[in-house]
Amino acid sequence: MGLYFKSLCSSSSGNSVVLWSDSTRIVIDCGFGSMKRCRAAFREHMSEPVEYQAVLLSHVHSDHISYYPLRALEEMGIPVFIHRDSLDLLREKHFNGYHFAGLNLQTFDKGAFSIGQFLIEPIKVMHHPWYPTFGFAIRYQSNHREYKVVTITDFCQWRNIVEHLADADFVFIESNHDLELLEMYYNPNSRFHMPNPETARLLCQARRQSVRPFETVMLGHISSQRNRASIALEETRRAFAEMELDLDFSLLAAPLREPSETVVIAE
Ligand SMILES: [Zn+2]
Ligand SMILES: [Zn+2]
Repeated sequence: MGLYFKSLCSSSSGNSVVLWSDSTRIVIDCGFGSMKRCRAAFREHMSEPVEYQAVLLSHVHSDHISYYPLRALEEMGIPVFIHRDSLDLLREKHFNGYHFAGLNLQTFDKGAFSIGQFLIEPIKVMHHPWYPTFGFAIRYQSNHREYKVVTITDFCQWRNIVEHLADADFVFIESNHDLELLEMYYNPNSRFHMPNPETARLLCQARRQSVRPFETVMLGHISSQRNRASIALEETRRAFAEMELDLDFSLLAAPLREPSETVVIAE
């Protein structure tokens, strides 16, 4: 009973990742710029029929959801889950006066909820003050073992996140910008995102608090102008070496605009 993950796109120009088992598929964020691109992503990467399928939204910044993907999701009949505090903002920012009468929109709140085989725990994170933002810890049982997957992008404070990452099998985490490149190409919005050294520190702390190593960590939401995958990866490697911690898991970076490799979390 396998569990798999793939990033479809991951940058400030669009974010969407997918986690699936044999019966359940969840797509976290759906930041495609057009109905065509959204339909194509589902056709290319999610054509296998599954019993349960849903889109989960972390927050409503337009690199994560917007009018056109909402139209495509309505057309495909795919349910969309959003935190109840983001519902009005979603309508205000992205409905564009259209009623979305056929959109299956469901809300979650503080507590964990189930979609098919996955138990999903929302993790509130600090990001832009006007936009309530959530990461997710997702649990999946197979062969008497529980697997834990954590996905968090778009945040700027990490102390409360360490405990959620501990003992995860797979982590998808933002490593947004390099501090030197930020000086060269200043962007005031970068302060709502994680610089490489902070993500590196967070991963060190989480590894320290874990009884067993992560299987795989993938860095995501990498800025195209203010970062490089190679710099982000190196920063994490260096932090582990400086802390005298073994980097005893596989460390990857999500491509910005193309799909990543498929990560096998459970076989
Ligand atoms: Zn974003
Ligand atoms: Zn955001």
